Amino acid sequence: MPEKLLKIKLIIPLPISINKLYINQYVYDPKTKKWIPTGKRIMSEEGKKLKEQIQLETIKQLQSQEWDYEWTKTNYIYQDCYIYMNRAGRDDNNIFKLLNDSLEKVVYDNDSRVLTRTQRILIDSENPRVELIISQVPFRGIFDNEEQMRQFEERCRTCRRYKNNCSILKKAKEGRIQKEIDEKLNCKEYKKKKG
Ligand code: SF4
Repeated sequence: MPEKLLKIKLIIPLPISINKLYINQYVYDPKTKKWIPTGKRIMSEEGKKLKEQIQLETIKQLQSQEWDYEWTKTNYIYQDCYIYMNRAGRDDNNIFKLLNDSLEKVVYDNDSRVLTRTQRILIDSENPRVELIISQVPFRGIFDNEEQMRQFEERCRTCRRYKNNCSILKKAKEGRIQKEIDEKLNCKEYKKKKG
């Protein structure tokens, strides 16, 4: 039976752009009685508030949907975005920093596992928002899906290297391209086990 891939839908407030998200940090110097820039960039109050709002909304909406947070620790997920901008001319790339930062540790473990895809940009000045469809990807490492990986490993079980935790198999599951495995997924290092 094909594996059931989980999918959730979220509707969250439209994130602010990177320009508004970070501000310069200042410290007060009592000697000169002046505020001096430290050279560091910190999250603005507006950014912090919006991040909290996005997280609260997400937690609420997740309660009625099936999702597997643990799965995201070792697999990729698609994040399809339908963006309703507050005005024309905004760049979608500018909103992903706050969006992904907010969903990290709530929906997924690390945003490096997130494959973000903008599906549509519309303008809704009355109700700016982002509608997200977040789903588990079908591929596993170099394999197109779970079934293809299972079939490959089935053959590995008859190979001499399998019982020694074959590093080629391990790397293939991690998505590493190796010269030992060709495009048709034939392993050149296969050696039939005796007996
Ligand atoms: S050498 Fe190739 S066929 Fe043998 S266990 Fe490793 S990946 Fe599988």
